[in-house]
Amino acid sequence: MSLKKLRKIKERNLNSDGTLGCSVCHQFKSPDNFCRKDGKLTYGRCRECRRSEYDKWKKSNPGMAQKANQRWKDNIRKQCLEHYGSECIWCGEKDVGMLTLDHVNNDGNFERKNLNVYWTWHHAVKTGFPNKYQILCMGCNAYKSWYGKLPESKKKLDIRIFSLSDYAKREK
Ligand SMILES: [Zn+2]
Ligand SMILES: [Zn+2]
Repeated sequence: MSLKKLRKIKERNLNSDGTLGCSVCHQFKSPDNFCRKDGKLTYGRCRECRRSEYDKWKKSNPGMAQKANQRWKDNIRKQCLEHYGSECIWCGEKDVGMLTLDHVNNDGNFERKNLNVYWTWHHAVKTGFPNKYQILCMGCNAYKSWYGKLPESKKKLDIRIFSLSDYAKREK
């Protein structure tokens, strides 16, 4: 057996009453109060204790926490752009800072309320890049949420040509 396999962390066993003990606050809590790693309960500290330790660290290392958070966010955005394409599918805007992840069926509110989605980009990565998202620039996205359709005047040239030839075919 390789060393890596030997070192593999085992999932923690629940107590007979279905709880887990926290190594910091020494309280017994339900498994929901513990973070999971790859779906497994491996952490000794409960969420609250992890959170307060992180907050403490954040206070003493303000710059580092911000940078770490930025790196995490950049990485998630990068993964999404690699999957969905790195330009606005409608107007072709390529400036990454201008791009948003759009809900094709405008169900962003539903997601935030019912699926506890706090950041769509992260949710897209977690759920394996479903088709319900697409890349739009902020302008096209704002227009869509206001008028319920995409701005005809901003349409990329190749979409215009495509839809024109499509239209011609239908006429025949
Ligand atoms: Zn705790
Ligand atoms: Zn656009």
